[in-house]
Amino acid sequence: MSMIGQVYVKNNQYKIKGDFHHLEPGLPIRLADEGWRLIGITNPRTLTHMHSYGGEAPFFEALSQGKLLATRCDNPQCVHHGSVYQPFRIHCPDCLVKNTVIDMTDIAKKTSRIHTFMVCERSGAFSLLDTPIKFINVEFDGVCTILMSYLAVGDPAIGMRVRPIFKKQDPTFTILDLAFVPDGTKEDRLPHGFQF
Ligand SMILES: [Zn+2]
Repeated sequence: MSMIGQVYVKNNQYKIKGDFHHLEPGLPIRLADEGWRLIGITNPRTLTHMHSYGGEAPFFEALSQGKLLATRCDNPQCVHHGSVYQPFRIHCPDCLVKNTVIDMTDIAKKTSRIHTFMVCERSGAFSLLDTPIKFINVEFDGVCTILMSYLAVGDPAIGMRVRPIFKKQDPTFTILDLAFVPDGTKEDRLPHGFQF
């Protein structure tokens, strides 16, 4: 019996419990064209990677609470002082000073619109989204960057007004806790676990 790896941090140290590396027996790889002679083996491996969010942790915590955090450069000496960044940038790319974390949930609710989009019929390994995936690039009033997300309901169009939705029920603490729907979508049409 194995237990999935669990981690917390106390006194600046990782405290881990359970299995982080799981080894399974492999199988031979044989060459059918030459009498099925042995040419190798498969090496199945299961591992649990500890992915630290560092300074971006508040962004992911906030998604689970239905809030969209951004950052802003408040350095008065910076040429681009006052710029708001979404996605969340820890440091200003122009002056390299640490940005201020701001709550832009209301701005996103009132001003989100599709800059451009891309519909993918197939996805890569480990993708958890249902295909076709409607990837959208979202622009917001007063924000100098564009956010990559996906449209969870309906079909995208350039310039379409959209609203953010948050997976407050059973959050994954990943970017998948944030998605968008067309403005005017009724709450009962949202995917499982999501709320406005
Ligand atoms: Zn700056």
